[in-house]
Amino acid sequence: VEEPIHEAVLGGAAARGDAPALVDGVDGTTLTYAQLDTFHRRIAAALADLGVRKGDVVALHSPNTVAFPAAFFAATRAGASVTTVHPLATAEEFAKQLRDSSAEWIITVSPLLETARTAAELAGGVREIFVCDQAPGHRSLLDMLGSTAPEPQVDIDPAEDVAALPYSSGTTGVPKGVMLTHRSIATNLAQLAPTMPMGPGDRILAVLPFFHIYGLTALMNAPLRQGATVVVLPRFDLDTFLAAIEKHRITGLYVAPPIVLALAKHPAVEGYDLSSLQYVISAAAPLDAELAAACSRRLGLPPVGQAYGMTELSPGTHVVPLGAPNPPPGSVGKLIACTEMRIVSLDDPGKDVGVGESGEIVVRGPQVMKGYLGRPEATAEMIDGDGWLHTGDVGHVDADGWLYVVDRVKELIKYKGYQVAPAELEALLLTHPGIADAAVIGVYDADHNERPHAYVVRQPSAGGLGEEEIMEYVAGRVAPYKKVRKVVFVEGVPRAASGKILRRELRERA
Ligand code: ATP
Ligand code: MG
Repeated sequence: VEEPIHEAVLGGAAARGDAPALVDGVDGTTLTYAQLDTFHRRIAAALADLGVRKGDVVALHSPNTVAFPAAFFAATRAGASVTTVHPLATAEEFAKQLRDSSAEWIITVSPLLETARTAAELAGGVREIFVCDQAPGHRSLLDMLGSTAPEPQVDIDPAEDVAALPYSSGTTGVPKGVMLTHRSIATNLAQLAPTMPMGPGDRILAVLPFFHIYGLTALMNAPLRQGATVVVLPRFDLDTFLAAIEKHRITGLYVAPPIVLALAKHPAVEGYDLSSLQYVISAAAPLDAELAAACSRRLGLPPVGQAYGMTELSPGTHVVPLGAPNPPPGSVGKLIACTEMRIVSLDDPGKDVGVGESGEIVVRGPQVMKGYLGRPEATAEMIDGDGWLHTGDVGHVDADGWLYVVDRVKELIKYKGYQVAPAELEALLLTHPGIADAAVIGVYDADHNERPHAYVVRQPSAGGLGEEEIMEYVAGRVAPYKKVRKVVFVEGVPRAASGKILRRELRERA
C-alpha cells in the first residue's frame, strides 16, 4: 500500500461524518469520525507551524485516550515519526528512549507531565512538550484545534519514511526502536483486514495499550480504517473492563492471554451481561487450547481466535480468520496474504523441517520492519540477506497450513538434552482448579542441568494446595523429562503491559 498511514487509516473518516469513532469507556466522551478527521488535520497544521518537520521524532506519552489517535496521526501528517512511550515508564526509561530515538518533541497528558519534564531534562532537553489536555505553561492540543495555519503539505515516501518507531517489549533484552515505514504498517492493515472484517456498528474495546504495536494496530488503526467504534479504557481493571463491555454493548475483544484467563476463570465475570460479545481474539503470548475453550464455553462464543506477530512485523503474519469454520484448537492462525513462511531446523538453520515438526518460524513479506534504529548488527542478525526475518519463536505447521507457536527459542528449557517449553507447562498448571496463574522458568541446579521451576498463584479458595500436589498433578500428565521440579508460591506473576510473562524477572529472583 503506497499511502501515508494517516491516509490509509483516516482516508474515509470525513465521509463517515457523525458516526462515533472513539468513545471514552468510563466517562462516555465521544469523538465522531468527522471530528477525528478535522482535529488531526488542525493539530498537524499547528505542529507544522510550531516547527515540526518531516523526519522529526515525536514521543507520544499517553495512556489510551480518545485523543491518542488524533495526536498520533497529526504527528505523521506533519511528517514526523511517532515513538510511542509506555505511560508507566519511569523518567529514566523515558529519557533513554528520547535519547535513543533522538526525539525532539513530546506529546503527553497532564497527569504524566512531571515524568515527561524530568525525562526531557535527563535526555538533555527537547524542543517543546505539548499536552493533550491542559497544563499551565504548556501548549495544548485542544488549543491547536483553533489553529488557522495551513495544513502541511509534506512529501512522504511510504516505502522509506518511518511512520512509527515503537520499542519492542524488552521481554528478552533491551527494548529496541523498531522502524516501521508508512508502507509496512499500511500494507499490514490491508493484509489483516479481510481476516478481521469490521465496520459501522462494531464496537471494539481497546484495553491493551496503544503504545504497543498490538494495541496500535488491532485496537486503533484497524477499527478506525474500517469505520468501527473504538471504546477506550486507560488501563486494565477487571470490573471496569466487564462493566464497559456491558454498558457499551461491545462486539469484539482483542486481548492477551491474561484477560482470556480472567474471562475463563474469574468469578466476577458472572456479574455482568456480556451477551453483546461476538468474538474474542488473543495475541502477544502463547494461549493454551484448553483455556481458550474454557473462555468461549463460558461466554457462549465461537472459539477464541488468535493472531501472531511481533513489533518487527508491523505487527502481523498469522490470524485465525473471523468466522473460520472449525479452526483447529491452539493454532495462532494461517498466513495472511502476500506473506511467506518457512520453519527451519533449530540445529541447522539452513534446513527446512517437515509438516508437524518444530523449528524456528521464519517469515518474509512487506510488513517486515525497515530495521532497528541505530542497531545495524541487531538488524542483520534478525533479517537475512534474502529478506527473511528470523522470529526467534519455535513453532510447527500442519498439513493445512495452520501454525502453532510453541514458545520462544530462548525460553526453551534444556533438560538433559530434551527441550521443555515453559508455555506448555504453564498451560497445564492453569488447568488445575486451585491455580489462578502460573509461570515456569528453567533454573540451573547444582549438576548444571536446567530444570523447570513453577511460580504459582493459588486461587483464593485453594488455601491448602501444596507443592507436592502440584508436582504430582503435572507429573501425571507429561513425559518424565517435563516434570516440574520445584514450586514457589507467589502473589502474582510479573507481566509486561502487553500481557507477556516477564520470565527474566523470575530468573533474577531465582
Ligand atoms: P523483545 O523482542 O524486546 O524481547 P517481545 O518479543 O516480547 O520483546 P513483542 O514484539 O511485543 O516484543 O512480542 C512479540 C513476541 O510475542 C513474539 O516473538 C512471540 O514470542 C510472542 N507472540 C505474539 N503473538 C503470539 C501468539 N499468538 N502466541 C504465542 N506467542 C505470541
Ligand atoms: Mg521480540
